[in-house]
Amino acid sequence: MRGYLPGEQLNDPDIIKLNTNENPYPPSPRVFEAVQAALTGDRLRKYPQPMGDTFRQAASEVLGVSPDSILIGNGSDDILTILTRTFVPEGGRMAALTPSYILYQSLAEIQGASFETVPFQPDWSVPTPWPLKDTHLTFLANPNSPSGTVLRLADVRTLAGQVPGMFVLDEAYADFAEDDGLALLPELPNLIVTRTFSKFYALAGIRFGIAIAAPAIIRELAKVKDTYNCDVLSLAAATAAIQDQGYYAGLRSKILATRGRLGVALAKLGFQVTPSQTNFVWCQRADRPVQPIYEALKARKILVRYMNYAGYGDGLRITVGTPAEIESLLVAMRAVI
Ligand SMILES: *Cc1c(COP(=O)(O)O)cnc(C)c1O
Repeated sequence: MRGYLPGEQLNDPDIIKLNTNENPYPPSPRVFEAVQAALTGDRLRKYPQPMGDTFRQAASEVLGVSPDSILIGNGSDDILTILTRTFVPEGGRMAALTPSYILYQSLAEIQGASFETVPFQPDWSVPTPWPLKDTHLTFLANPNSPSGTVLRLADVRTLAGQVPGMFVLDEAYADFAEDDGLALLPELPNLIVTRTFSKFYALAGIRFGIAIAAPAIIRELAKVKDTYNCDVLSLAAATAAIQDQGYYAGLRSKILATRGRLGVALAKLGFQVTPSQTNFVWCQRADRPVQPIYEALKARKILVRYMNYAGYGDGLRITVGTPAEIESLLVAMRAVI
């Protein structure tokens, strides 16, 4: 197998890094206090809570679900691995929409499962009726990456109702979107919602993600996960973060405002910009390939994500950085184009 190719993580401090959708702002000050506190006394010597009960209690109050509907993970990629190992037998069938998150295919290859893709329609909606039968696990990233688009809740409901086997709604970017799928959980027994703390909560370095599903599903996932898959420091950080919704609401408004300005400016430069409900924008050009633009930006120490999907053309996925970072990007773009 080829293996999943992560976005470039260059450590040069001069680089403006707009390629893997990290939050450009620091996490809540309460996160730093909580991690400091976790470094005192006995906490590192002892094992962490296996199911993260303190975190689950805090998250339950914010998300409006019961604590036993939540599974903790070492990043949401860990959660996606646990889901695959739980529900897909060797020789089983997995599926996802395309273009979307590339990791889903790698998970199928590792599991020895086949992987079917269903193309998004040109307007980024999903074909109906759903064309696949006999699948064990199907992924929908909503909002989607790289497009930044969303499938409306009514369409998610219809889709999950038609998909055979388990249905994973990967909500890595839901905190930036107008809506999310948690309300659908009681009516759809095959639905699992996943969230990451890497984007909205500005904690990509700490590795934390969750699954939210019916308690009976969470009990099965708990049998498969590593016993202590989240450490004391990540649990302390994630608990403090989710409890500081006021701080993160402030970051959300700043990022959405910058996203709006970035979209307008890119359109002025001749890009087709897909309307985004995430902390990135997907932009393409009708007049020329964009790989040379990606290369020229990189030579100017600005890193964006170049992607090329058969049938959809190539494009740039640009993370919404700080206003200063986006201004530098636009200055470079104007020079390059
Ligand atoms: C970033 C991302 C993830 C993974 O998040 P981690 O918690 O950092 O592992 C999962 N799904 C999608 C669609 C993402 O963009």
